[in-house]
Amino acid sequence: MEDKNFELNDIVEMKKQHPCGTNRWKIIRMGADIRIKCEGCGHSVMIPRREFTRKLKKILVKHQEQA
Ligand SMILES: [Zn+2]
Repeated sequence: MEDKNFELNDIVEMKKQHPCGTNRWKIIRMGADIRIKCEGCGHSVMIPRREFTRKLKKILVKHQEQA
């Protein structure tokens, strides 16, 4: 598995898509639990960090660093 250094506001793909058919999630909260929001329907879910890391497939878009 490649880079799993996910950060806040990254767009990620999970191993399983959301029931709405979208597999693009935005990381909206970082902590012991990770909160991700479906880019398709706006639904958000909270996942323990360990489980999130296991279910993460890849990072699609890194958030833009402020210059
Ligand atoms: Zn959705």
